[in-house]
Amino acid sequence: MMRAIAFALLLSLAASAGAGHAQDAAAPKADTDTLDPTPPGSLNPVSLPPLLNPDSPTIPAKELFGRKPTPFPGPPLSIGSYADGCLAGGVPLPISGPAWQVMRLSRNRNWGTPNLIGFLERFGKAAQKVGWSGLLIGDMSQPRGGPMITGHASHQVGLDSDIWFTPMPNHVLTREEREFDGAVDMVAADRLDVDPKVWTHTRTDLIRTASEDPAVTRIFVNAAIKKAMCREAGSDSGWLAKVRPWWGHAEHFHVRIACPADSPECKPQPPPEPGDGCGHELDFWFKESTLHPAPPLIPEKPKPALTLAGLPVACKQIVRAP
Ligand SMILES: [Zn+2]
Repeated sequence: MMRAIAFALLLSLAASAGAGHAQDAAAPKADTDTLDPTPPGSLNPVSLPPLLNPDSPTIPAKELFGRKPTPFPGPPLSIGSYADGCLAGGVPLPISGPAWQVMRLSRNRNWGTPNLIGFLERFGKAAQKVGWSGLLIGDMSQPRGGPMITGHASHQVGLDSDIWFTPMPNHVLTREEREFDGAVDMVAADRLDVDPKVWTHTRTDLIRTASEDPAVTRIFVNAAIKKAMCREAGSDSGWLAKVRPWWGHAEHFHVRIACPADSPECKPQPPPEPGDGCGHELDFWFKESTLHPAPPLIPEKPKPALTLAGLPVACKQIVRAP
């Protein structure tokens, strides 16, 4: 009964949220996350004190969503855009499966829509067919999605997952191993190409396998990794259209799937530019000023944190519900 009431409330709020909301998810800044700077084991959102008044208009939305340990009940809904939204009816990816294991359990970020869970199950199996032992899963979304206290700009609507470039070992990892084992940087010290000591062609096959899943709309990797995959793909490079270069993403890649058909408030991203994005399109990433940017003469003011007012209206209901 409580669930039914909560969901009816949510739907009425979602309907009133309107269409012209917030920023465009296609803007490059909002396209994906940066490398998560959180040291392993340093974050346990569930144990932080619930000292915050959700009605304060200045409280950053990440402080509210980052402290919700449980999902919002009811049917799954992605609300808003990848970098500005939230999640109802989130489901957890089991921490161990036939073709995956979840890392960094203390973060409680192994949540998503059933579409994302279904994709990861499918992808794990398909990856094993190209010789990859299984997936190590990094951050997905928080139980109710929304912005995070540390790390990402996106991952807010249960449709994004980070996956390590390290293959799954052949034993079930302990909690400690999942918390403290490190992922391997695939990019050479000069950041111009992959590190041949660790990069293998199987990783190109792995990314290609993900790109061929019809649910996938984008895969973000470091530009040096994209360059290597362009080289290895040769003329058979059409699949690389979904694989976009981004900062970081040298020891993990980020897979984004499309808005679920039954999430009317989910804001899709436009399809990627046509073409494989290889060759000169990568030049920007290897310029001296991109690789080693000069510090700004006047330090940039940090942007004020997103508050609930900046999120779709329905997200207020999602984060305030017990
Ligand atoms: Zn990511």
